[in-house]
Amino acid sequence: MALRLTSLKTEVHNDWCPGCGDFGILSAIQMALAEMEVQPHNVAIVSGVGCSSKTPHYINTYGIHTLHGRSLPFATGIKLSNPQLEVVACGGDGDGLGIGAGHFVNSGRRNVDMAYILFDNGVYGLTKGQASPTLKLGMKTKSLAMPNINQATNPLILALAAGYTFVARGYAYDVRHLKELIRRAIEHRGFAFLDVLQPCPTYNDILTKDYWGGEGLLDAGGRQIPRTYKLEETGYEGVVKTPTTDEMEEKIKQAIMKSFEFGDHTPIGVFYQNEHIPTYEDRLAQRIPPYQDTPPGSQEIARRDGTPVALVEGLLDEFRVT
Ligand code: SF4
Repeated sequence: MALRLTSLKTEVHNDWCPGCGDFGILSAIQMALAEMEVQPHNVAIVSGVGCSSKTPHYINTYGIHTLHGRSLPFATGIKLSNPQLEVVACGGDGDGLGIGAGHFVNSGRRNVDMAYILFDNGVYGLTKGQASPTLKLGMKTKSLAMPNINQATNPLILALAAGYTFVARGYAYDVRHLKELIRRAIEHRGFAFLDVLQPCPTYNDILTKDYWGGEGLLDAGGRQIPRTYKLEETGYEGVVKTPTTDEMEEKIKQAIMKSFEFGDHTPIGVFYQNEHIPTYEDRLAQRIPPYQDTPPGSQEIARRDGTPVALVEGLLDEFRVT
């Protein structure tokens, strides 16, 4: 099966524009998985619709390109069916925080043990650059006729409020740092959310690679000051060390305050991590004890001749309305 996947994937042509931040994120995902030595057949990459949702086509693992905004319910089903898989959902901010916003919030509440990488560029790139949920009020990218009329959603604050137990932000062109964040997100026990600043040079001419690199922001010596800085280099500590509500609340409040910083001084790194919250799989196993040993993905559903193993007739009889 693994060989067959390889031969299929090598024929795929990459459709991203030159200079797109998606390339940096793709490299970081590949580097993280290679470093973790996870076998390709033990990984599922799940996406919705958008430029970045083509990511599963470009990685030699199982790839599931689903419906607009629906990567998280698909990924949840895959993970719960086969908890042995490393499941990584990915997609754009329009996909995840526009049409997919309801799934985003409720996924945080569940805390399934998987990761979600948001390619955050402020526009709907695939459909010619309309304003997406993370574009700031009043910003006018070259693809907009008038400045954005809506307030932006802050994905980090939304994730913290929804209950995600790992909340981080990376930058697409700092690939090594991003690789570390992706690795930590995948290794985190619980639902990890990673927002990635992803320049879209084709439609967003404001939040560009040059902008994040410090264009127009100079120190006394005339050198550019990058607009991103690393939380871990400032002594910030977002990891909850003890299973106490007090520490958890303090760390969430600290992370929320930090999440407001954006623009000339934009933090990247781990804002919050808490592995003391039971995962959805833990709760499921308490309710259905055989779940851990025989999850649905390991159960036989059909015989060799294709006939179903389940006694569907009995179920239908039970629900038949007379
Ligand atoms: Fe990347 Fe933007 Fe091109 Fe889409 S439109 S591939 S996000 S540069």
